[in-house]
Amino acid sequence: MMRLRIIKMTKPKVGFYGITGCAGCLLSAIFNEDDILPLTKIVDIVAFPFIKEKKDESGFDIVFMEGLVASKEDLRVLKEIREKTKVLVSLGACACTGGVPAFRNFIQHDDYQRLVFHKRMKLEDLEPSPIDKHVKVEYYLPGCPPDKNEILTFIKDLALGKKPKRYDKPVCFECRLNKNKCFLDKGELCLGPVTVGNCNSVCVNGGLVCWGCRGPTPDANFETLISLLHEKGIDIVNIRDRMKAFVGLKLPEEEKKNEQDYKT
Ligand code: SF4
Ligand code: SF4
Ligand code: SF4
Repeated sequence: MMRLRIIKMTKPKVGFYGITGCAGCLLSAIFNEDDILPLTKIVDIVAFPFIKEKKDESGFDIVFMEGLVASKEDLRVLKEIREKTKVLVSLGACACTGGVPAFRNFIQHDDYQRLVFHKRMKLEDLEPSPIDKHVKVEYYLPGCPPDKNEILTFIKDLALGKKPKRYDKPVCFECRLNKNKCFLDKGELCLGPVTVGNCNSVCVNGGLVCWGCRGPTPDANFETLISLLHEKGIDIVNIRDRMKAFVGLKLPEEEKKNEQDYKT
């Protein structure tokens, strides 16, 4: 999913922005004193909600964009920032795959229209979609929320002209290293085999299954995992619904790759 591009920058101007999301990605990128001092020597953070009262929005070398496009205003902001930015980074699950807010795409409008839709019509909502559906994205930093150290390492690498390392191994890789008991052996629905790791399998370490927040691995084979989970007695609709939670809008791409139909 991540496209790589090497650039060299002299004290790059870095901005953080958010469109529709919960601000959790931006909060996860708030650096502490130990982080920020070395960082300010190599980059100039010119825009950051909660932190920068005055923003310099004249142009950016790198922008981290949280959230997905769910309204016309989101789209306007996204396109405006894209035009002024050399390297745009999708920050977090909502920006990368649509994440949880995009689940709305899988719900019948009639089911919730009577509750909220008439109130929200005036907001001119668009179908929720990840940002790369609308603009070019150079890099993806997944996770709900992403890991702060991953963001820091990424900024340092780019600023120093190094190629940011792409992590492709599934969550299972770290989970095995952490010697966790496998949820699949117990017939529980865990998406570790098809999900990009580098989170140190934090959920499984804490006794929770992986919900796939870091998005699909490049070679994710959803159909094989669906068959395996189904053989273990898990209902196929539940499996697909779980997959939709974080990668739903990317599933059609996987669908093409695996020539399978994920529509329920
Ligand atoms: S990816 Fe998660 S933490 Fe980030 S904006 Fe979306 S819901 Fe919030
Ligand atoms: S518990 Fe989940 S992440 Fe860990 S090895 Fe099993 S399937 Fe993979
Ligand atoms: S274990 Fe799965 S759900 Fe938890 S942080 Fe890692 S990728 Fe996300």
